[in-house]
Amino acid sequence: RTARDEGNGTAVFDPAAYARWRANRDLIADLQHALGTDELSMHYQPIVDLESGRIVAAEALLRWTRPDGTAVSPAHFIPLAEQSGDITLLGEWVLGRVCSDLTGLWAAHRLPVTVNISAHQLRDAGFATRLLERLERAGLPGAALIAEITETVLVTTVTDAATTISQLQQLREHGVRIAVDDFGTGYSSLAYLRELPVDILKMDGSFTSRQIEAGSPREIAFVRTIVELGRSLDLCTLAEAVETEAQAQRLRELGCHLAQGYHFARPAPVAVLHDLLAAQRAPSTGTAA
Ligand code: C2E
Ligand code: MG
Ligand code: MG
Ligand code: MG
Repeated sequence: RTARDEGNGTAVFDPAAYARWRANRDLIADLQHALGTDELSMHYQPIVDLESGRIVAAEALLRWTRPDGTAVSPAHFIPLAEQSGDITLLGEWVLGRVCSDLTGLWAAHRLPVTVNISAHQLRDAGFATRLLERLERAGLPGAALIAEITETVLVTTVTDAATTISQLQQLREHGVRIAVDDFGTGYSSLAYLRELPVDILKMDGSFTSRQIEAGSPREIAFVRTIVELGRSLDLCTLAEAVETEAQAQRLRELGCHLAQGYHFARPAPVAVLHDLLAAQRAPSTGTAA
């Protein structure tokens, strides 16, 4: 939208909005070009069991590094790709790369990977079938994959909510687990939770605040409520953006099962994840001997 409504029915040309529109259009053109190159890659961030401290899964996160070395945040280009429709191709590229990386991770460590799926991808009635075929071709069971969706999948696809739900059910019947990402930030979390087939509640990073670390009763009440909700629905709870041991400790006390965040490990290339898993598997060679 490059015109600004003056509020009296007249629209005027808005140079700043026009510049933004052009920049976004150029970025999307560059992204389309990047798809065939090594500018795109996947990073993986470990997800740990708060009780044992062990890595039990990893989240696949898309990275785009331009030829001049600058990184573009997925928080910026994914919404643009959703608007332009390029998310379909981009999402398929992500799944292809994840399945090939996952082959090694699963064979060596039985490690499942979580992957972010856009509402737009689920609107396509062939999505689940294609994904299951992909897994089968890679020799992977459904249990190797966890699909992360946001609560907004139903808000933005209200007309084809039935398609979305049946795709998720189809995936689930084949062992793929479903995680609700950024849980707690949607408009009506509870209503959507009733509609969606779900296995994991992924609490939004904003709940893992400095305040829970400091012991704010109000902030702790929110986390406790989400964890309790997960418990009563028999869901696994996962906290994101855990940056300190004090936060991890608080979450552990509250009964949250899993966590990810800079405190444990940053997103990194798959080779780094292999090293972390190998170190975790190796019998402890501490100072004891
Ligand atoms: P998300 O799925 O909620 O991913 C979590 C984000 O938190 C990631 O940002 C991750 O790098 C960041 N993070 C991890 N640990 C910490 C921490 O301790 N503190 C803080 N402050 N942040 C932490 P990232 O990689 O920039 O991704 C942003 C968003 O872009 C993702 O949010 C997701 O919605 C989207 N995205 C990323 N990759 C994909 C993809 O392959 N497909 C789709 N559809 N969306 C993606
Ligand atoms: Mg996610
Ligand atoms: Mg999230
Ligand atoms: Mg997020």
